[in-house]
Amino acid sequence: MRVAFVSGNREQLPDGVIPLGLLYVMSATPERHERTLIDLCFADDPGEALSQGLAEASPDVVAVGMRNIQSGDYSGVKHTLDYYRGLMKSIRAVTDAPVVMGGAGFSVMPRALMETLEPDFGISGEGERAFPELLEALEAGSGFDRIGNLHWYDPDGALRGNPAPADFLDMDALRPPDRSQLDPRYDERFGIDSVQTKRGCPLRCDYCTYPIIEGRIGRKRAPGRVVDEILSIQERPGAHHFFMVDSVFNLPKAHAKAVCREMIDRGVTLPWTCYANPLGFDAELAGLLASSGCAGMEVGSDGGSDAVLERLRKGFTTQHIRELHTLAQDAGVPDCHTFILGTPGESLDDVRRTLDFIVDLDPFSVIMMVWSDDAEAVNPELSTGRAELRDRIYELLAEHKDDFPWWSIPALGVNYDARLFDMLRKRGNHGPLWQHVRKFLPPTRRRRAGHSGVT
Ligand code: SF4
Repeated sequence: MRVAFVSGNREQLPDGVIPLGLLYVMSATPERHERTLIDLCFADDPGEALSQGLAEASPDVVAVGMRNIQSGDYSGVKHTLDYYRGLMKSIRAVTDAPVVMGGAGFSVMPRALMETLEPDFGISGEGERAFPELLEALEAGSGFDRIGNLHWYDPDGALRGNPAPADFLDMDALRPPDRSQLDPRYDERFGIDSVQTKRGCPLRCDYCTYPIIEGRIGRKRAPGRVVDEILSIQERPGAHHFFMVDSVFNLPKAHAKAVCREMIDRGVTLPWTCYANPLGFDAELAGLLASSGCAGMEVGSDGGSDAVLERLRKGFTTQHIRELHTLAQDAGVPDCHTFILGTPGESLDDVRRTLDFIVDLDPFSVIMMVWSDDAEAVNPELSTGRAELRDRIYELLAEHKDDFPWWSIPALGVNYDARLFDMLRKRGNHGPLWQHVRKFLPPTRRRRAGHSGVT
């Protein structure tokens, strides 16, 4: 069969990121099928580029990867569904081939998206096994009910969702992602690649969709295989940085240490970044991160009071955040903490307490987000109900933004805009740009304004 793999993601702020999940599914699709990647990230007119790509590929099946429901720039739910509706229209206008949707964004609420976007099939969770099975079922004209996590319409037109398979995939049994069809502009414009060392997160943060997508059981890749992939990225002249896309790199801690040691032993020199968690962090790990070229870590701290952290079921306290910060600072690994303000149950006073906590913590960098729910994409009333608190939080942040010169506040465009990032890249800076913002601030802004808190 001829299969067109469509990557719908167009987010380039802060960086354009390769469609890693789709590349994994492409690699898992047997070679007897013809596989074409249509990546819309850099297209001026995505509908037109899609039509043209499909006309050239003349596919028997169209597989659409949906990476996010929310904007990658942390500004919330925008027009994602309208955009994907437009893509579906472009596809239907040029081909009768069945359309399969999948990806992390689709997996968050597959049934609602089947009903809203009306693809012929949907795959939630991992696609490397289900998608090749679906191709077989399409060739045979039967067997759809046996494919785990497949969403499909039965002969009576009823929407069905098959149960998940009994087991998750063995990461070492998967072929590494094939980057040969990637658009060269990822390297030319951003120079940042993505690597996965495992899937699954054992934690239970209240709002998080990762465990739905990847499960709770950590499935680790052998460190040697991870480093084989990193070394092949390192050979590319356009690669300047890579991001460990694991939901939390340092859980389990032993695996993270083994990957770092392998990188050190085999001469990885490319700088890299990861997501880290205050649980599972110690001085030895901090030292290994530094020695293996970790240029920074993004820590999902989320809240600045123990009450909020408990409500979010983060599993750690503000004391754990403080300990991580001290260890990272001692080892020379910059830490950027993301905080989500206005989560369900939070008051404006809670938000003020979180801001005070961050002032006191004084980490290398901070990214401030304001809570939005994925479900707001299909339920606008939910969004209206949350608008008032969100507006108050934006006002509070706007009032205090000059007191915190190097915090990024994406929703207000503070230290988070395309022009600033272009300038940083032109000066040879790569990787997550919070690492560089601080050194380019004018000296007057670089000094903290003697601020002692928000409350
Ligand atoms: S640690 Fe991160 S990935 Fe894991 S459940 Fe919490 S927010 Fe989700």
